[in-house]
Amino acid sequence: MAEPHDAPRDLTRNQGLVLGTLNRSSAPLSAYDILDKLREEGLRAPLQVYRALDKLVERGLAHRLESLNAFVACADAHCHRKGLIAFAICERCGRVDEFADEVIEERLSGWAANTGFKTERTTMEIRGQCAECLKAAA
Ligand SMILES: [Zn+2]
Ligand SMILES: [Zn+2]
Repeated sequence: MAEPHDAPRDLTRNQGLVLGTLNRSSAPLSAYDILDKLREEGLRAPLQVYRALDKLVERGLAHRLESLNAFVACADAHCHRKGLIAFAICERCGRVDEFADEVIEERLSGWAANTGFKTERTTMEIRGQCAECLKAAA
C-alpha cells in the first residue's frame, strides 16, 4: 500500500477533521456519515462537510466515488489526480483500493487526442470481491 498523505498544514479546521475521519475509515464515507462522526467536534451542517470535501477533492487529498456517492482519503501521496484514478470496490466488505495504471491512462489519452475530447478527470470504479473476501468464501 502506498503512503497516505501527510495532512498539509494549511487545511482549515473542518478540512482537517474531515480528512482525519476519512483517513481513519477503511470504507468510503458519505457526507452524512462524516457529519455524524464529527458532531462532537461541533460540526452541525452538511454544508460544512460538503465545503471541506470540495476543497479536499480539489486538492487530490480525497476522492469521490461516483457510484457510491461517498468519499475516500487519497491512498497515494503521489496521486496523479489529473490523470486516471481507479478504484477497486469490494461489494462484500466495502474495502476500496485505489490504484493508477499508466497503460490504461495512455490508451484513454490516445482516445481523447483522436476524438478531440478534452478530459477533465477520469475515474474508474471496478466492483467485485477483494482477494480477502474470496479467500474467506473459499
Ligand atoms: Zn488518489
Ligand atoms: Zn472484501
